[in-house]
Amino acid sequence: MTSIPAAPAGDIDPAIRCSACEAVCCRLPVLLMPEDRIPSRYVDHDERGVEIVAKGEDGWCAALDRNSMRCTIYELRPWICRGFDVGGYDCREQRAAWYGRTGPQIPIAVSSGRRQ
Ligand code: SF4
Ligand code: SF4
Repeated sequence: MTSIPAAPAGDIDPAIRCSACEAVCCRLPVLLMPEDRIPSRYVDHDERGVEIVAKGEDGWCAALDRNSMRCTIYELRPWICRGFDVGGYDCREQRAAWYGRTGPQIPIAVSSGRRQ
């Protein structure tokens, strides 16, 4: 995720809701910053030895609840996750890659922030 630039200010699709998404952004790699304080069981290292958030064998973040598809460490989520705009460019690109350009065909409900 760190290699993907943030969405330009104001470039947000307000119709997009995390509650109508399979947390596809939570499949992206998340590098941990020095200020991040997540539970140690969710810390892993990449091939360079850099701290990252661990993933499950299914490809989703280890901190994601597989039933609710919500972040179990939302209040402690890494800095990178905090900067990921719901409905922003990166969000839309990840959803397009996962669902295609039409998006998921499931009802939209209320949500805010990345996978809370
Ligand atoms: S931020 Fe975007 S990609 Fe991530 S869960 Fe929410 S809607 Fe899906
Ligand atoms: S928002 Fe939570 S579940 Fe999603 S990638 Fe970040 S730490 Fe993992």
